Amino acid sequence: MKKALVCGAGGFIGGHLVKRLKEEGYWVRGVDLKENEYGNIASDEFIIGDLRDMKTVAEVVTSDLDEVYQLAADMGGAGFVFTGDNDSDIMHNSALCNLNVLDEVKTKGIKKIFYSSSACMYPEYNQMDPDNPKCSEDSAYPAAPDSEYGWEKLFSERLYLTYNRNHGIEVRVARFHNIFGPQGTWDGGREKAPAALCRKVAMAQENDVIEVWGDGKQTRSFLLVDECVEGVRRLMESDFTGPVNIGSEEMISINDYAKMIIDISGKKLTLKNIEGPTGVAGRNSDNTLIRQKLDWEPSMPLRKSTEITYRWISEQIEKKKLENA
Ligand code: NAD
Repeated sequence: MKKALVCGAGGFIGGHLVKRLKEEGYWVRGVDLKENEYGNIASDEFIIGDLRDMKTVAEVVTSDLDEVYQLAADMGGAGFVFTGDNDSDIMHNSALCNLNVLDEVKTKGIKKIFYSSSACMYPEYNQMDPDNPKCSEDSAYPAAPDSEYGWEKLFSERLYLTYNRNHGIEVRVARFHNIFGPQGTWDGGREKAPAALCRKVAMAQENDVIEVWGDGKQTRSFLLVDECVEGVRRLMESDFTGPVNIGSEEMISINDYAKMIIDISGKKLTLKNIEGPTGVAGRNSDNTLIRQKLDWEPSMPLRKSTEITYRWISEQIEKKKLENA
């Protein structure tokens, strides 16, 4: 039986990854600052611990592990990443998790580690035109991410690649593009655009106005978490180090996306664009490399993945109402 450690198992993607690894027959240890709030934890062992602390890292990274998945990061959506207020935490906390975990993996002689980077590391100058963003893997340099979150991801990608070159550790690096779905953060300030829009629409009364940050012309693509986890597992099983994009190529403007969610809800609502942090003008996954290297790419239509997510967020809102009644 293969043994894996999932760092960030209390989080959104980490929780789904634990579940997937268990379904595949792995023995799984999870570690996180917190338990998964949706109870999506199927791990054999779950340790509440801080990966900034080397003692905790030495405790959870044991030499019997076959694989480590490093997803722990201090992160959130535009309201967390682009205001500037959390920049030092984002860089310090996430970098420390990566530095500590990777070095312990080397010390304990573990052969394989996965790292979740982000599309936020791509240069801002290639993402100014909402209709024509460039996010191919080879467009990363000259580096110019538009957030400190992106800079930390770029630093850490390079860190992982050095451990591959200098210590022979099999490293796999993916650049995730806007992952969403059930069990994702949907309120509280760290939620991302799809969850925030689903929440606003689900909570709205007939004929309400839905506020959308920015002019609504900014474009993005969104990927359901199940397909993200599928990509992670395929990358891990492949002999390709990466970095490689894991995202959807179905690009949409934020206003059109809000309209899609309204349509799914069946409500009559209107949009109002307001000032707010938005990030780059355009971003879309380029799946040329993943198709080439893994002979696979995500394929679920955005409408379907959004229906799944909208339904789940509506249920959470109903549950909260009942709890507070
Ligand atoms: P998440 O915030 O739900 O999960 C991250 C987890 O890391 C959290 O549960 C958090 O408590 C944990 N963590 C943070 N600091 C820690 C520490 N010091 N010690 C232990 N645990 C710590 O986020 P997610 O959406 O599941 O993202 C997982 C990974 O994927 C992150 O590295 C993120 O940067 C990356 N990513 C996510 C997206 C996305 O759209 N969700 C896009 C690009 C990249």
